[in-house]
Amino acid sequence: MARYTGPRCKQCRREGTKLFLKGDRCYSDRCAIDKRNYPPGEHGQARYSRRSNYRIQLREKQKLRRMYQLLERQFHNYYVESVRLKGVTGTNLLRLLEQRLDNMVYRMGFAPSRATARQLILHNHFEVNGKRINIPSYQVKVGDRIAPTEKSKNLLVIEEALKAYGSRGTVPYISVDVGKKEGIYVEEPARDVMPIPIEENLIVELYSK
Ligand code: SF4
Repeated sequence: MARYTGPRCKQCRREGTKLFLKGDRCYSDRCAIDKRNYPPGEHGQARYSRRSNYRIQLREKQKLRRMYQLLERQFHNYYVESVRLKGVTGTNLLRLLEQRLDNMVYRMGFAPSRATARQLILHNHFEVNGKRINIPSYQVKVGDRIAPTEKSKNLLVIEEALKAYGSRGTVPYISVDVGKKEGIYVEEPARDVMPIPIEENLIVELYSK
């Protein structure tokens, strides 16, 4: 599956907020947003002034899409699915993104970023309910148990990431046993417990035009 491979910090600067795309660096004083919080490029600072409704909606969509490192088409597919599901479309959209296996691996603290989680999954380092899964977009269901495979449990990148688990905030819909190196998706989250600083209604407005 194609994915964006350009500079990640530029994406945060474009959106004017931390998207947490680079693991440890995002929590250090090397974060580009802390140093230069304006869009990249020669006219970056000038661009801030033009804010039509459409631009605001578009930026909100780009922010969310980039957080989960998805291409436009993949992201739009999630929107189509979220409309089809019962309930509030915006909340459905966020839930579908949260239920991606790469996001779960990241939230469970097995990887420092979603990009690293995706790489680890692609290289067969994770299993769901004891079955190896190498599809980052795999939709995790409530009750699923996620863990590194027996051979991958001692991978340095996983061990290092787990050491930081908890220090960067946890979510109530996931339970993690750090000692056993496994996590469970406990329940479908309500909107207010998903730590996603996005106004998803703007994205729904944008797509429903
Ligand atoms: Fe974004 Fe992380 Fe780069 Fe900071 S260090 S700009 S949060 S990707």
